[in-house]
Amino acid sequence: MTIEELKDRLTGKTFENQLREIVNIFPGKTLFTSSFGIEDQVISHMIFQNDIQVDVATLDTGRLFPQTYKVFSETIKRYGKIINVYFPDHESVENMVTEKGPFSFYHSRENRLECCRVRKLEPLNRALRNKECWISGIRASQSDNRRQMDWIEFDEEKKLFKFYPLFSWTLEDVELYIRENNIPYNVLHDKGFVSVGCEPCTRAVEKGEDFRAGRWWWEEGGQKECGLHIK
Ligand code: SF4
Repeated sequence: MTIEELKDRLTGKTFENQLREIVNIFPGKTLFTSSFGIEDQVISHMIFQNDIQVDVATLDTGRLFPQTYKVFSETIKRYGKIINVYFPDHESVENMVTEKGPFSFYHSRENRLECCRVRKLEPLNRALRNKECWISGIRASQSDNRRQMDWIEFDEEKKLFKFYPLFSWTLEDVELYIRENNIPYNVLHDKGFVSVGCEPCTRAVEKGEDFRAGRWWWEEGGQKECGLHIK
């Protein structure tokens, strides 16, 4: 299957039907990863409410906000569905923190990328093992880097398709959908947190600031990505 063929199969369908079609094309081989951000909650709702057979997973880095665990808990309660949790390899975390301390990521970009690799990338790669399609809540208007992406891509490194159902949605579209469907969401979004990641590496942003400005704010320039979605 090529990207163009996949696009042809999905174009013109509702978002829910696009998800159904993805499952038809990649049965048992599709994974949606959620960090319980507002976009992810929309996709979880579409999947769970419609009983679409997509595996759902989350990465628990060990450094998340308490509010994130609260949404996690509320989501399980609301839909009664399974969300598979992936933790980092304990030896890698133990070695890193023993050697460099609990805030190594503030000291250099290299350390920050190491922490993201240990706490996010390795567990993600395990979650994606044997999958052929990865769904995530990326929207084009979230950042300049994401505007360069496409709603369906092929990840040459991971050898799988990536599908972003909300790629064309605005933040307002997402917020409206959340309100209309009374979907549980992270209360940090009401306090200026547009993108909620690990607690030590996420802060609120001012109105008009770039969507990713609240992530790794102490680093100059760069793509403000943890490596999950860099091509
Ligand atoms: Fe580590 Fe921060 Fe990356 Fe989380 S966001 S994995 S705490 S560097």
